[in-house]
Amino acid sequence: MLFRLAWRLFTEISPRLAIKAGWLWVYKGMGAVRAYRRRLLRGEVFPPFLFLALTNACNLRCHGCWIESRGEKHSLDSEDVDRVIAAGKRQGSYFYTLLGGEPMIYEGLWELIARHPDCYFQIITNGMFHDEGNVERIRKLGNVTPLVSIDGMAASNDDRRGPDVFEAAVAGMRRLKQRKILFGVATTMTSRNMEEVLSDEYVRFIIEQGAMYLWFYVFRPVGADPSPHYCVGREQMIELRRRLLELRRRHPIMLIDTYWNARGEAVCPAALGMGYHIGPRGSIEACPPLSFACETIHAEAEKGSGTFCRNGPDGASHKRCLTPFPPNDNDNLFDTINQSEFLRGFSKFVNERTRGCVILEHPQELVEFLKASGVKDYSGRDALAELAAGTPRGSHDMKGEEIPEDYWVYRFLKNQLFFGMSGYG
Ligand code: SF4
Repeated sequence: MLFRLAWRLFTEISPRLAIKAGWLWVYKGMGAVRAYRRRLLRGEVFPPFLFLALTNACNLRCHGCWIESRGEKHSLDSEDVDRVIAAGKRQGSYFYTLLGGEPMIYEGLWELIARHPDCYFQIITNGMFHDEGNVERIRKLGNVTPLVSIDGMAASNDDRRGPDVFEAAVAGMRRLKQRKILFGVATTMTSRNMEEVLSDEYVRFIIEQGAMYLWFYVFRPVGADPSPHYCVGREQMIELRRRLLELRRRHPIMLIDTYWNARGEAVCPAALGMGYHIGPRGSIEACPPLSFACETIHAEAEKGSGTFCRNGPDGASHKRCLTPFPPNDNDNLFDTINQSEFLRGFSKFVNERTRGCVILEHPQELVEFLKASGVKDYSGRDALAELAAGTPRGSHDMKGEEIPEDYWVYRFLKNQLFFGMSGYG
């Protein structure tokens, strides 16, 4: 597989773009992981990587999406995004995932990316905006990899995403391929499309479109339209894991998951503090589907947040003082995240219950934890009520039936290298 993948990289990706990805994504990604681990040893919390939800605006209404795109529109201020990235760089973090809503709707997207040539950006997109102009911008910038959301072949994909979405996204991928751009496909596995998306035919189809990596997600029943019938059961989860390992040996494409470490044990990236989500209103959230926060990038002490401030009598921080930090002082993003009782509390809450996903396994307890933490709901809906109405179910924690990585390439990637969201070793 490795030689065939290397040949694809050599023949299908522009050398300039491959070198940029190797340096900015892989090499600097390894540095970010090492810096993250050193922080952990010092008892500090700051992720090697951040999700930036640039806007909640979107042109689609997919089933099971947690973003409220019908109501009020919210977008991150580009100066704030610059400050967040600047704060991240000071911690050695140079990789940022841009999402939404639909990030390619965000005004000033290309200027933002151009202002940070020393960073690498992954754009999670529904693939409807890869016209000639945008594809050429991506090629010119060079520090961008689109991740196109496709959930099966036309029928399965459009069943969740809407009519004609598949066709438009595939047309866009062909333009990316023509310009030798490094891109990937993100596929959400559901109880309905699992047979299809974990087949040799599907993986071959994705390779033919020119994608170099295929990132698999497992469906979460969240949002205003949670669609729990799409959830994957325990037997399906074990089968899914087994087939993923088989496909990895057979196909010249990186098949990514962020659910299991090299030993096949479940991981929750949010509980490990590996990647926090900055919402379109600046909220600092534990993970994308959970639109709750106590702090924002505006460093204002949210009521009840327990954020420490620096205005204590002796200059040292003290608790619940409610004295807001100077506005827009994102230099303080490290402090805000590192001292967040909520984010540290979330890790402890998860680790005391599961290695898997608390949204699936403990929705009601999660609601109690969130209420006790004094969070603010940034969903634009009553997301606490949505969670409380959830049925507890199994997640990717397959206790007692773990299936370790059986291919050295993925063992290495999961232990050492930036893989999805860094080393889970
Ligand atoms: S809480 Fe669930 S969805 Fe969020 S990062 Fe953890 S495993 Fe993933």
